Amino acid sequence: MKVVLLGPPGAGKGTQAQRLQETHGLTHLSTGDMLRAEVASGSKIGKEAKSIMERGELVPDAVLISMIAHRITQPDAAKGFLLDGFPRTVAQAEALDRMLSERTQKLDRVIQLVVDNDAMVDRISGRYSCAKCGAGYHDTFRKPKKPDVCDACGSHEFVRRADDKPETVRTRLEAYDRQTAPLLPYYKGRGVLSEVDGMAPIDQVTTRLGKILDAA
Ligand code: AMP
Repeated sequence: MKVVLLGPPGAGKGTQAQRLQETHGLTHLSTGDMLRAEVASGSKIGKEAKSIMERGELVPDAVLISMIAHRITQPDAAKGFLLDGFPRTVAQAEALDRMLSERTQKLDRVIQLVVDNDAMVDRISGRYSCAKCGAGYHDTFRKPKKPDVCDACGSHEFVRRADDKPETVRTRLEAYDRQTAPLLPYYKGRGVLSEVDGMAPIDQVTTRLGKILDAA
């Protein structure tokens, strides 16, 4: 099964994709994670992407399209995948359609996490994760059980994303409205779009997403 999760930054795409990866045996493909790995490794792509990401703008389509074209041919993608953060423009969506149809494949579902954009600034600007295992936390909504100790692995080291500052979050939300929201009518017209209330509690969102995947 091939699925796209759509929604503005902070909608919960990454959290939900990680859960569905476990429950539905799909490979979670996050272009944000891939780009952050490129930045951390100091590669040519990473050097090009770093300042664009720090400003909260979108990295050029050509970079993302070739990254995904390569990634979906890897063995772990053969069991099906969940795209988180791609496509983000109509050009990327068209390229994805072409890549899949060349392999006589297609997207099974595109699921939009519907959220209140105004609430996303608070959601994102308080988030951080364990530096060792990546478990996600939030200053207000999801604190570790023991202060400063990761629930999952016991580490004391935590990190915040450079682009999770309130002013950058606003730029990222604007980029979503201007460049990514046009994908909603694009996929609606193809009859593959489902909507899920992303403001509901995390477990309820997971249950609803799971039902959509089970029916796909
Ligand atoms: P994310 O982790 O999905 O919020 O992505 C973090 C940042 O990576 C975004 O703000 C963009 O700068 C960049 N990025 C991730 N995916 C894409 C994409 N599909 N197209 C362009 N830029 C992207």
